[in-house]
Amino acid sequence: MSRYNQLQSKKYKLIKKMSNESPTSVTYSLISPNGFPLLLTLRDEKMGILMTNMGLLETSLKSKGFTPQIKKTFGEKKPIEYVQGEVCPKCGKPLIVVNNDKMISKCSDNKYNPVTKKGEPCDYVKWRENK
Ligand SMILES: [Zn+2]
Repeated sequence: MSRYNQLQSKKYKLIKKMSNESPTSVTYSLISPNGFPLLLTLRDEKMGILMTNMGLLETSLKSKGFTPQIKKTFGEKKPIEYVQGEVCPKCGKPLIVVNNDKMISKCSDNKYNPVTKKGEPCDYVKWRENK
């Protein structure tokens, strides 16, 4: 074996070793048929095999009732939730569910004004009592 071939052979072995250590992989974010969020990682040495297996896996998961977990992108607005059967005692507008550690709900007309430091045009807030 020539020096060149020896080097090539060594290089090939190294590449093979590296690809064994870091095979291609894909991770699925799923919701199980019982509603549990889970991550499933599929690994294969070759992208071609991985793609084939992904197709098989996806068909199988779908038939078993797994659904893809859709990640909420940053900055997406939460849908407004109104308090059922209750209106603002000050102005009669619907109340919005807040549910943080201070507030239970607030008037849907309560928009915080940083200048006056009050909710405007209506400042109604239902505070948590057990503080
Ligand atoms: Zn109000």
